[in-house]
Order: sequence, then C-alpha cells, then structure tokens
Amino acid sequence: MLSASQLGIGFQTAEEECEIQQLQEIMSIEDLKQYDTNSFWGNIIPDLKHVHNRVIIFCPFVRKQRIDQLLPLFKKITESGNQVIIYTRPVSEHQDSYQTTARSLIDSLRKEGAVVRIRKNMHEKVILIDDTIVWQGSLNLLSHRNTKEQMQRIVSKSVQKEVEELLDLNQYKKITAANDPTMQCDLCKGLLVKRSGPNGEFYGCSSFPDCGFKKAL
Ligand SMILES: [Zn+2]
Repeated sequence: MLSASQLGIGFQTAEEECEIQQLQEIMSIEDLKQYDTNSFWGNIIPDLKHVHNRVIIFCPFVRKQRIDQLLPLFKKITESGNQVIIYTRPVSEHQDSYQTTARSLIDSLRKEGAVVRIRKNMHEKVILIDDTIVWQGSLNLLSHRNTKEQMQRIVSKSVQKEVEELLDLNQYKKITAANDPTMQCDLCKGLLVKRSGPNGEFYGCSSFPDCGFKKAL
C-alpha cells in the first residue's frame, strides 16, 4: 500500500512550495485560508463585526432565516456610518412561491440602510470586507441553509482590487429610499425609492426591473 507521502497527500515538493510562495508574493497575499460550512460561520461573523468602511456581498438569493440572523449585524454597520452593499437576483428569479417573501426581505434590508442592487442571473458568492478581505467560494451568505460548501478567505489588497474589477461594481445609479417610509408601490406594495432618469428624479419601485411602477416626486 502506498503511504500518504508517496501519494503526495498533504505534502508539497520543495519546487511546489517555492511556486506557491512566489505566487503569494506576486499577489501580495498576507493570508489565505480554506473553510467548510461549519468553520465559515464561526469566522465570517467576527469579520462582519469589524467592518471599518464597507462590506460588499454577492449572493444570488435571500432566505428569511439568514436575513433574520444577519440583519442586526448589517444594522450595526450602517448605524456606525459604514456601508452594506448587496448584489442579488431579481425577485422574479426566486421560486414563484417565495417571491413575496423575497421582496419583503429585500425591502427590510433597504430599510436598515443596506444598498441592494439587483443583478439578473448573477451566481457569484463573494464577500468583500473593507479593502483587504476577500471571501469567495460556493456558500450563499444570505440564503444558506444546510448544504455543504467551501469558502476561501484571502487577505490581500491586490486580490481584492482585482475581484472588484471583475465584478464590475460601478454600473449602478444611486438610489435612495423615499423620505416617507410609509410610501409603497401601488402595484406590489414594495418599497419606493428615488431614482433618476433622463427626465429628472422620480419615485420608482425598489423591485425594478420586476416591477416598473413610477410616481412623480
Ligand atoms: Zn412594485
């Protein structure tokens, strides 16, 4: 029977070790660790508690259980003047039976001050913390239930910058919630937000492009 070292399990040749080190130096990686589902949750929460500027989350779907858990944390971040920016799929890409819930979850995130940007067909699972930490892998932060996933945590300004560029973060117009939070979309009861178009500012449904409701300011 072959031993672990003969199979190459858990060992790197001196040459491979050198290559990994060179790669880390080129990418200026300070730290790189791999997590499974269990160890992920124990490590992402402290990271979210120590946001100093902003957290950017890419997660295709939302689920009530996770949002309930994370919303108080997001609220703390926005209350201390930092940003929570979430990219997620339109409500129409959730299961039919979950769309009403998904819409109200997205609204509740916005009500707590998070910026939610809708992106069709997105599938990335990425969390960017301040300008240095990149979490990426297979776990949906805002909807994970009990599946087995892997996430990698990289501490590196240059990797962070590269990932940000790949995610094309600057294609959005600024939207802000309507001054009166009791204002609702006439069609879907969603949150109304201030948007700007070629003819100036107006109120629009926060579930755009799923809902196209508009109202003059
Ligand atoms: Zn609407």
